[in-house]
Amino acid sequence: MDKKKLIVGNWKMSTVVPEATVLIEKFKKELINLKKTEVIFCPSFIDLYTVSRELQGTDFKLGAQNIFYEEEGAFTGEISPLMIKGFCEYVIIGHSERRIFLGETDKMVAKKVVVAVTHEITPIVCVGETLHENEDGLGKRVAISQLEAALHFVTPSEIAKIIVAYEPVWSVGTGRACNPNQAEKMIKNIRDSISLLYGKKAGDLIRILYGGSVNKKNISSYLKKKEIDGVLVGRASTVYDEFVEIVKAAEKVGGKRKKGKK
Ligand code: PEP
Repeated sequence: MDKKKLIVGNWKMSTVVPEATVLIEKFKKELINLKKTEVIFCPSFIDLYTVSRELQGTDFKLGAQNIFYEEEGAFTGEISPLMIKGFCEYVIIGHSERRIFLGETDKMVAKKVVVAVTHEITPIVCVGETLHENEDGLGKRVAISQLEAALHFVTPSEIAKIIVAYEPVWSVGTGRACNPNQAEKMIKNIRDSISLLYGKKAGDLIRILYGGSVNKKNISSYLKKKEIDGVLVGRASTVYDEFVEIVKAAEKVGGKRKKGKK
């Protein structure tokens, strides 16, 4: 059975509203009739509304880069899931830049994941080890421990609503892409852990992405890997020709979904 590859563009803090508008208009014109690829754009909060209007009537999906774990209250500067619910179907949670620069802990990540699921926003949960941890041979242990913590409140009936992204910290934004075999191995470890926690079917069904310095040159090497369901792209997602080539490469590769997968 064919499966669609998932390409998530994390626009980080790269665009102000007029730039976001121009970019999304260009992508909409160029990326038409996609058959084997699902694309999710994750612009900044301030761009979300404009981009959501641009995406109306298309198959492209919209995601936020973060949410807060409370629905309402005195939390100055935070964004509640209720504020994005309805026009944002996805949200990136636990990105390494938030863990490192904004002190986001495993506990906060777990609370954000469950509040997203409660409001029917699909969390894209990021896990991955630092360079030191990798060099010390702790990559698997760190990624799995972050995963288990993130899924702490997730029930068996909710696990299918989660997407996981393996994003080695040493590869995010560094230009140092992870070897595709190594990325696939780690993603298999993540899948096996989910099977252990939630059963084999859950492990088979869950979508697991790779993220870290993906570009138009290396994209196919990841997407050809059976275990890798797609990619989370940072820097290259706002560089017009890079992202267009990434999505076109995904259309070429497509994928062989394991039996039972959507
Ligand atoms: C990311 O922001 O999740 C990411 C993978 O960034 P980059 O592609 O720039 O490494």
